[in-house]
This record gives sequence, structure tokens and C-alpha cells, in this order.
Amino acid sequence: MTKKQFQGEPPLADAVSPGIHPRVFLHTVDQADTAISITDVHGNILYVNPAFTRVTGYGAEEAIGRNESILSNKTTPPEVYKSLWHNISRGEAWSGRLINRRRDGSKYLAELSISPVVDAGGEILNYLGMHRDITAMHRLECQVKNQKALIESVVDAAPMVIALLDVDDRVVLDNQEYKKLQADLGMAEPAPMLMTAIRAGLETEAANGRRSSGYAFLDREVRLDLPGGKPPRWYSCSGSRVREDDSAADAFFAGGGRDYLLLVAKEITGLRAQQEKARVAALQAVMAEEDRVSALRESLSAATFRLEGPLNMMASVVGMLARRNGEGDPMAVALADAMATGQQALAELRAMIPAETREAEGVINVNELLRDVLDLATVRLLAAGIRVGWKPQAMLPALQGYPNKLRSLFKALIDNAIEAMSARGWRERELAVITRAQLGSIEIAIEDSGPGIPPAQQLKVFEPFYTTKREGHRHLGTGLAVAQQVAADHGGTVAIDPEKSAGCRVRVVLPVKRHV
Ligand code: FAD
Repeated sequence: MTKKQFQGEPPLADAVSPGIHPRVFLHTVDQADTAISITDVHGNILYVNPAFTRVTGYGAEEAIGRNESILSNKTTPPEVYKSLWHNISRGEAWSGRLINRRRDGSKYLAELSISPVVDAGGEILNYLGMHRDITAMHRLECQVKNQKALIESVVDAAPMVIALLDVDDRVVLDNQEYKKLQADLGMAEPAPMLMTAIRAGLETEAANGRRSSGYAFLDREVRLDLPGGKPPRWYSCSGSRVREDDSAADAFFAGGGRDYLLLVAKEITGLRAQQEKARVAALQAVMAEEDRVSALRESLSAATFRLEGPLNMMASVVGMLARRNGEGDPMAVALADAMATGQQALAELRAMIPAETREAEGVINVNELLRDVLDLATVRLLAAGIRVGWKPQAMLPALQGYPNKLRSLFKALIDNAIEAMSARGWRERELAVITRAQLGSIEIAIEDSGPGIPPAQQLKVFEPFYTTKREGHRHLGTGLAVAQQVAADHGGTVAIDPEKSAGCRVRVVLPVKRHV
């Protein structure tokens, strides 16, 4: 096969079919929709196509023989032209943007590509220029950029936490308030934690048939517990779905895209603080009454427990006398009478023990419960000069359980710690309350810097009526036994950490989901 070659001209590229007539190239360039010009090595125009005339307003007869600089608006920085000529005069292609002026004086932004045309020896013969008016596209680009900057500044200045999350809860965009929250919580990404709490609430409601679990949500309240004694914060969270179209080439016809969630969290701590004050005051009254009743229950139980001993002894003496001296033994009869009176009194005492009130199960935030107990103990903690280290995990999974029972469990442990550190002359007075979630359960550690419990007594203290206090002390020794019972009712445990050398650390472990 031979290639069509014209005299004095360099050979055509190998990719050209031998059957194609060179005139086809002229027609192609002539009819192309892009403005095409061919110049000599100085940029003097030799040829322009009709699209060039359409874009620039210069007809072929006006353009040919003049320099391409007729298109220059004289506002393109000289460095641009320098780089243009530097490249093309070395035989390299160049492309870039220039500000051009049409024949009628109107300006437009041109996107220009220049390719040198070389002979067989590599010498530059001509330049081929192709350009199009991209003013409209540039305007659009600027609008998008300006809008993005505007949205970013509005989002940044918004007095609420805003974060855009992908389907894996990764933050792809955030604002200043979000960054402030990150700093306050001392964690890299609080958003996934907020989402976990929101979803848990939504799932519970969906399971109870109160709402359908969907993508969007409105005004979900989330409580965040901050370390270092700082008061908790409350956020009202809303989420809406944002869809981004796929910009990949292969998605042009197929469509598709990515889903995001726009999370907006407005702080409502101020509002909640008022409600919390009222709630804690009411709680204080309820707990005082509960304290009174349980103290009564404890005293009466202790009294019956102590009465049972002598009565049992009397029963064995009566039995012994009857066996030795016969049933009619006057001493045995008198003792049996006294015993019957004693048992009557014991039965009356038992009947006076107030019954346990049945409590409804509910969803519990353990941090909130502990915070309540600490708030209620503030006066006593201050009076005893005890420093409190409140170290909650910012967000704990919700627990199903009995709030009053759990509150009294923690109260008993904190009361014990206060009492242990209040011993006369004891200087180290620090209480730490630590919470963390681990493997389907919540662990609460209550640590005090008191004298501690000797290893031999660490199991015994959980026995009912066992007390390390001296006789005559107000303490009856039922607190830890009751605490253990409450933990067991929740499928959990209470134990004294044998590893703790100075002071005492009580660990409470409560499973998030109880196996009934
Ligand atoms: P000029 O006096 O022309 O030159 C400015 C600077 O360019 C000089 O300082 C020099 O560094 C460099 N320069 C100019 N000519 C040469 C040369 N022959 N060799 C090496 N360096 C040189 N310009 C536009 O504004 N709009 C266009 O659409 C456009 N299309 C072009 C298409 C082609 C194919 C070519 C080859 C050039 C094109 N030019 C275009 C560039 C144009 O030729 C001018 O260089 C440019 O417009 C600047 O003109 P000027 O009169 O302001 O300055």
C-alpha cells in the first residue's frame, strides 16, 4: 500500500488510510465547530476556518496576513505569552486561557491550544491554533466557587454544630462549632458518637412501633457527658439526606451517586439545665423518702435478725429441759410462754417492715444516674472536703433497668466511700467515678482514697448485716448486700477490686442487654 504524498510536503502520519483524499482534511478543518487558525512561525495568520469568524467576528479576508495579536485584549499577563512562545518555539504544544477581544470590541475568555506543525526534519513550519469561547463556562465555574465559599462561610458562622457524614459516618465537611465540640470532648470525631445515640433512640422507637426507622430525623435530644466535673451538654439533633450525583464519566447515562447525611446539632443545655434543676429537686425529695423507708426497713430487718438468735437459743433450752425433766417442767413451761410472746413480737415486727415498692423498668442513661447521685451528694462531699473526679465516657449505650434501684446502688457505694474517707485524721480525700462501655456491658468504677478494705474482708462485706464498723455505730451493714442484689437483678455484678492497693475501688458491671 502506498501513502498519498504531495511534492515538497512531509509524509502523512501512519494512521491515515491510503484511500483518504487530502481535501478531506481541509473540509474537516473548514467545517469544524472549533475556531481554527494556521499561522507562520511569527503568529501571522495564513488560514482561518468559518468557526474562527463566528467566534472572533473577523472574516478570513480581514484576518489573513495579520498577527494573532489582533485578538489580544492586552490584558493577559505578559508571562502567559512568554510561556506560550517559549513552548511552541521549542516544538512543544501549549494550551491555556487568554483574554481575547472580538472585532466588535467585546471581550471573551478563550481556551487556546497551539500545536507546532513540523517538516520531516523537525523544523517548525506553521502553528495550528484551536480555541473556543469559555466565558459562559468560566462564569458558571465562578458562580459554583462563589456559592461554595458563601455556603462554607454561612455554615462556619452558624451557631450550631454542622457535619456532613458519608454512609460510614465519616465526616466529610464540618464547621467551627463542630471543631469546638471536638476540642471540648477531646476526641477526633464526635459525630459518629452522636449518630450512635440517635440511632439507638430511633431503633427503640421503631421497635415499639412509635415511628418508622428512616433516614431523616428531627429534634432528637442527645446528652453528652464531659469529663473533669463539667456539666453535661444537651443537643437537639436533626438529620437530612443529601444526595450527590456521580460525576464519573461512566455514570453519565447510568446515573447513580452517593448519599450523605447532614447532621445539625443545636445546643439546648441552657433550656435543659432549668428542667434538670427541677428534676433533681424532685428526685432529692423522692430519694430522701426512700432513704427514710429503707433505713426503717434496714433497722426492722436487723432487729428481727437479732431477735431470732435469742429465740432460737430459748427453743433449744426448752427442748433440753423437756427432755431432761419432762414436758411439765415449770421452767420449760415459763420459757415456752416467754418464747411464744417473743415470736409474737417478732411476727409483729416482720409485719411492720415496709414492703419493697415495685418499680417500672425504663431506659437508663447510667451517666445521668451517677451524675444525679453525685449532685445529691454535693453538700456532704464538700463538707467532708472530698475532691471528686468525674470521668464519664462521653456517651454510653442505654440500659434497660430500674432507675431508682440503680440510683440507690450507686448512692450506697458513694455513701460508703464518703464515710470511709471521713474517718478522723484521714487526709487523702479523693473520689473518682469512672464509666466506660465495653463488650456489651457498662463498667462503673467508684474509687476512694480511704483506708480500703483488707483482702480477708473483701467478700465478707457483701454478707447481710456484716459491718466493719464498731458496735453501736449507726451502720447496719446491709448497703453492699442490697447493692449486690440490685446488680444481680440487672444481670450484673458488684465486686471490690483486689488489685487496688491504696483505698478502695468498687466495680459495677451491668450488661446492656439482659438475658431474662
Ligand atoms: P507581542 O509583541 O506579540 O509579544 C509579546 C511577547 O510574546 C513577547 O515579549 C515575546 O516574548 C513573545 N513573542 C511574540 N512573538 C514571538 C515570537 N515570534 N517568538 C517568540 N516569542 C514571541 N494571542 C492572543 O492574545 N489571542 C489568541 O487567540 C492568540 N492565538 C494565537 C494562535 C497561534 C497559532 C499563535 C502562534 C499565537 C497566538 N497568539 C494569540 C499570540 C499572539 O501571536 C501574540 O503573541 C499575543 O497576542 C501577544 O501580542 P502582543 O501584541 O500583546 O505582544
